[in-house]
Amino acid sequence: MDGSHMNGNGASAPFYLAQGDECSLFEAAYDNNLPLLLKGPTGCGKTRFVAHMAARLGRPLYTVACHDDLTAADLVGRYLLKGGETVWVDGPLTRAVREGAICYLDEVVEARKDVTVVLHPLTDDRRILPIDRTGEELEATPGFMLVASYNPGYQNILKTLKPSTRQRFLSLEFGFPAPAHEVEIVASESGLSVERVKPLVRLAGKLRDLKGQDIEEGVSTRLIVYAATLIAKGMPVERAIRTAMIEPLTDEEDVKRGLTDLVTAVF
Ligand code: ADP
Repeated sequence: MDGSHMNGNGASAPFYLAQGDECSLFEAAYDNNLPLLLKGPTGCGKTRFVAHMAARLGRPLYTVACHDDLTAADLVGRYLLKGGETVWVDGPLTRAVREGAICYLDEVVEARKDVTVVLHPLTDDRRILPIDRTGEELEATPGFMLVASYNPGYQNILKTLKPSTRQRFLSLEFGFPAPAHEVEIVASESGLSVERVKPLVRLAGKLRDLKGQDIEEGVSTRLIVYAATLIAKGMPVERAIRTAMIEPLTDEEDVKRGLTDLVTAVF
């Protein structure tokens, strides 16, 4: 497969089709101990990209899906009761810092504000993680890299990255893949033939044009992969499109009708 690579352990990296020079940019960030921020809509390949690069670089990967209840303790660790004893248990960020792994914080803006406090000393050249509860001050093991993502489309005034945080990261903008790339990706992921994937990608393009008018966000590459997977398994095309590419976008009946008309126009 085009985008697959062998890592140091001989295992194959997950398939990722590059859209530009993002792989060499990631490598440059990694080589120079610089944290990286990936900006872009949901389902456009950010997580796959990080998984691919981690495997290529032969680093373990800790992925954390951030949500609005996620606290610094969830990342750093906490004391837990185990068989009557209180033991310290590292969180995913601490494990990554100790092991020299890549830590990927998906949708970092969702997390509680105290998370940024632990990220700051890790993103400057000291690369340390102070653990208040244990009194430790961990220096990042070589190979540690911090990667975060956020979706600028979801931003509101309360949920935005402060300049003091975002200016600590290199930033890479992600968009949906160009149509020819997207066809290749969806065919590879779903097993559906390129000829049958093409109209799905064309439809996705038309649905994306409606972003901001009738629908909040355009259909993701992930959803096209879902539709193609269902079709490849034998589901009628119209049913698959409805479940994977229309219903996930809106709850409004009249908008759904409008989107369905687009399907008829494309197929
Ligand atoms: P994000 O993290 O941006 O929300 P993901 O990385 O989870 O999105 O991408 C969703 C799915 O889309 C992936 O599981 C994969 O099937 C597919 N995908 C998107 N872009 C690519 C790409 N460039 N190469 C390979 N697969 C891709």
